[in-house]
Amino acid sequence: MRGKLSIVATPIGNLEDITLRALRTLKECDVIYAEDTRVTAKLLARYEIKKSLQRLDAATEAKKAGEIIARLEIGEHVAYVSDAGTPGISDPGSRLVSLIRPSIELGTCSAKIEAIPGPSALTAALSIAGIDSAAFTFIGFLPHKKGRQTALKEIAVSKLPVVLYESPHRIEKLLRELVQSQALHITLARELTKIHEEIVSGTPAELLAHLAAHPDRLRGEFVVIVSPVSRN
Ligand code: SAM
Repeated sequence: MRGKLSIVATPIGNLEDITLRALRTLKECDVIYAEDTRVTAKLLARYEIKKSLQRLDAATEAKKAGEIIARLEIGEHVAYVSDAGTPGISDPGSRLVSLIRPSIELGTCSAKIEAIPGPSALTAALSIAGIDSAAFTFIGFLPHKKGRQTALKEIAVSKLPVVLYESPHRIEKLLRELVQSQALHITLARELTKIHEEIVSGTPAELLAHLAAHPDRLRGEFVVIVSPVSRN
C-alpha cells in the first residue's frame, strides 16, 4: 500500500483562486494537516468539504512528521495546507517534507510526495509589478534584528530585483532603512487578489511620502520588490 502526501497551495485572499486539482485533493484525502485549522475550516466551508483537520504549524512540524509518516505507511492520503499560498514559501511545510522525504528515499516508508501548485504572493506580485523578473532573488522575511543590516546592505547593491515579504507595521521602517539608497526602485504589492489590491512604486522617499499622505494604505499584506533603477 503506497501512501501519499499532497502539498496543496491555497488562495492568498480571493477564495476563488484554488485549482480544481487542489479541491479534488482536499475532498479525496483521508486527513488534512493545516497551519491553522480555523483558517482552513473557512476555505473548506466555502467549498462544502467536510474533512478531518489536524494542526501542524512551525512549532509542531517536527513532531507531527512522525505521525504523518505512520499514516503514509498504512497507505493513507495526507494533504498539507498552510494559511495561504504555497506551503514552504516562508511558511511551514518545507521542514515537514525534508523530514519525510529521507524515509521515502531510503525505502522505509512507501509513499509519494506530490505538489499541488497554485497561488503564491511571490509570483502574483512579480506577475503584475512590471519589472524585469527573468531572474530575481527571493529572501522571504528579513530578520528583525541579527543579520538585518547585512541583509539590507546586500539588497541595496543587488543587481537582481530582490523580493521580500513584510508585515504592514514594518513597511515604513523598511523604507526608512532604504531611503539613503536613492538608486533603488521599490514596488509595494498590497492585498493581492483582494478588494483593495494595489501596486505602488517609486524611490523609498517617494513611497514614504505616499504612505504619509494615505495612512490607510498601510493596512493589509505586502510583497516588497526592490530593484536597481537601471533595471526598470
Ligand atoms: N506561503 C505564502 C505564499 O506562497 O505566498 C506566504 C506566506 S508568508 C507567512 C505571509 C506573507 O506573504 C505576508 O506577510 C505577505 O508579505 C505575503 N502575502 C501573503 N498574502 C498576500 C497578499 N494577498 N498580498 C500581498 N502579500 C501577501
